Amino acid sequence: MSFQAEQYTIKREPFYRSVANEVELFDAAYSARMPVMLKGPTGCGKSRFVEYMAYRLGRPLITVACNEDMTASDLVGRFLLDKDGTKWQDGPLTMAARMGAICYLDEVVEARQDTTVVIHPLTDHRRQLPLDKKGEMVEAHPDFQIVISYNPGYQSLMKDLKQSTKQRFAALDFDYPEAATETDIVARETGVDTKTAEKLVQIAHRARNLKGHGLDEGISTRLLVYAGQLIVKGVNPLAACSMTLVRPLTDDPDMRDTLDAAVNTFF
Ligand code: ADP
Repeated sequence: MSFQAEQYTIKREPFYRSVANEVELFDAAYSARMPVMLKGPTGCGKSRFVEYMAYRLGRPLITVACNEDMTASDLVGRFLLDKDGTKWQDGPLTMAARMGAICYLDEVVEARQDTTVVIHPLTDHRRQLPLDKKGEMVEAHPDFQIVISYNPGYQSLMKDLKQSTKQRFAALDFDYPEAATETDIVARETGVDTKTAEKLVQIAHRARNLKGHGLDEGISTRLLVYAGQLIVKGVNPLAACSMTLVRPLTDDPDMRDTLDAAVNTFF
């Protein structure tokens, strides 16, 4: 493995608690080098899953957090000026295609559609990436795979993936794990006892019921992990929940009171 690939290799096994047969399904998709889309709300384990799969498959992982200002050059690469003149620098997608990494484009809907189309030739039988500015055609390494994440709650008319992009991917649905699994995750990730983890998960369930009734998103597993991390540091659970489960979620004073009341019934 090259030095560059080594840098992107995950050395320690990430803790990932599988929730269904997603590991086997991803294994099969990878063996066909099929592009995969992970769908689900923020903070429910998509990135952790991809880290775990990259480790399991022994592939380097290159992650790109997508945003609306991102251009095709940010993915593919560009000429840079240095003291000797111009020098081409591969972008993360090109790097991944050359080294045979898994390239994970996180929250791909955030990128503009004209940026997203650059992945098309890599996602079909061609497995190529044209570097127009450089006049080079990169043939993807046989181990290269592209994975994207997508939060179906966020899309609007302006922000959605084109059908022509969507239909290049196989998709796996993710959601917050069911209560016992989520409790186990929160306890393992933070070191809080099972009883405390259970309470945190119950608070999340209350809040998730408010999605669409004043809340855009429910409390994610990520936020539960934050709450647990503060509690093991000795922070009072009420203060920890207020800081991690309530305040980040809403600016609306009534909704805040409702969530604070839910926290108060458990701690
Ligand atoms: P997403 O990519 O969906 O926004 P992440 O993968 O970053 O979310 O998950 C947020 C956090 O939740 C992780 O850092 C991890 O602590 C925890 N987590 C969620 N699901 C799992 C799982 N199935 N196994 C282990 N940890 C998980």
